Amino acid sequence: MAHAIRVHKYGGPEVLQWDEVEVGTPGQGQVKLKHHAIGVNFIDVYLRTGLYPQPSFPFAPGMEGAGEVTAVGPGVTDLKVGDRVAYAGAAGSYSTERLIPADKVVKIPDGIDYKTAAGMMLQGMTVRYLLRKTYKVGPGTTLLMHAAAGGIGLIACQWAKHLGATLIGTAGTDEKCKLALAHGATHCINYSKEKFVDRVKEITGGKGCDVVYDSIGKDTFPASLDCLKPLGLFVTFGNASGPIEAFNAGILAAKGSLYMTRPTLNTYTAARADLVETANDLFDVVKKGAVKIAVNHTYPLKDAGQAHRDLEGRKTTGSIVLLP
Ligand code: NDP
Repeated sequence: MAHAIRVHKYGGPEVLQWDEVEVGTPGQGQVKLKHHAIGVNFIDVYLRTGLYPQPSFPFAPGMEGAGEVTAVGPGVTDLKVGDRVAYAGAAGSYSTERLIPADKVVKIPDGIDYKTAAGMMLQGMTVRYLLRKTYKVGPGTTLLMHAAAGGIGLIACQWAKHLGATLIGTAGTDEKCKLALAHGATHCINYSKEKFVDRVKEITGGKGCDVVYDSIGKDTFPASLDCLKPLGLFVTFGNASGPIEAFNAGILAAKGSLYMTRPTLNTYTAARADLVETANDLFDVVKKGAVKIAVNHTYPLKDAGQAHRDLEGRKTTGSIVLLP
C-alpha cells in the first residue's frame, strides 16, 4: 500500500499526517513514480500553513522528488519503466508513490544519485533562473543574497562564484556565515548581529549592489532596498519571515528609480522547453563540480513534521531530503 504525508487542515507541523493512499494507474500523459528521495522546501511550509491556499483537502504537500518510473500511461513516448527521473513544481511529492504528468519530469543524468537530485531540482532551478534570467549575473555584478547558508543560498553562493560575480551573503549565525564563505560567497554578514545595510555600504564603498535577492520578506523590507544602486533590481522571491505588506510604490522612486520583481519558478519553467533548458543548465554545473549539492539533513518521510520544525526554526543549512 502506498503512503503519503497529507494535510487535512492548515496548521503547524503537527497537521502533517501519515496516511494510506490509493495511487491508481497513470492516465493520458501521466507516469507513475516510486519515490526514492523527496526534497523539502520552504514553499511546503506555506502550503501547510495556508499562506498559499490549496483548492481542496486533504492534500500532500511537497513540490520536488526523485524516483523511478513504474508505469507509463497512454500517450507517453519518451519515458519507460525503470527510468530515473526528477521534478520540481508538482505538488504531492510527500508520498511513497504518485502519478505525475510526464512533461513535468526530466531524466536524471548518470552520476547524479536520487538524494542529490531530490535536493537540487527546486532550489537549483530557482537559482538558475534568478542568476541567469531575472538578472544576468556575470563578472562585475555585485549581488546581495539573503539566507546565504540555506538551500537556495549555498547553491547561489557557488553558482555566483562560478559566474565570476561578487556575492554578499547574509546569515543568522557566524557558523552559517562560515559555511556560505566556504561555498564561495565573497562576503557574509551575520544580520542578527550587524546592520546589513551599513555593512553592504561599507563593502561596496557606498555604491550599493546591482541586484538584491530577498527571500526573507517582512523582516528585511524595506531595508533591502537601501542596499541597491540607483536603477538597481530588487528581487523579492520568498517570505521566510512573512510576506511584505502593502507599500507605496513611491518608495522605489525615492530610493533611486529602482526596479522590482516578484518571480516564481513556475513562470520560468511553464513551457517544456524552458524546463528542460533550466534543468540541463543545472545538471551541467553539478556534473562539472562547479556546484555541489549540500544535502545536510535527511529524515524518514514519516518525520516530515520534524523537518518542517527544523526548517522553520532556522536550524538547517543547505538542502533537506525525506527518504520514503
Ligand atoms: P532555506 O534553507 O533558505 O531556509 C530559510 C532560511 O531563511 C532560514 O534558514 C533562515 O536563515 C532564513 N530566515 C530568516 N528569517 C526567518 C524566519 N523568520 N523564519 C524562518 N527562516 C528565516 O529555505 P529554501 O532554500 O527552501 O528557500 C529559501 C527561500 O526561497 C524561501 O523564502 C522560499 O520561499 C524561496 N523560494 C522561492 C522560489 C521562487 O521561485 N519564488 C522557489 C524556491 C524557494 P538564517 O538563519 O541564516 O537567516
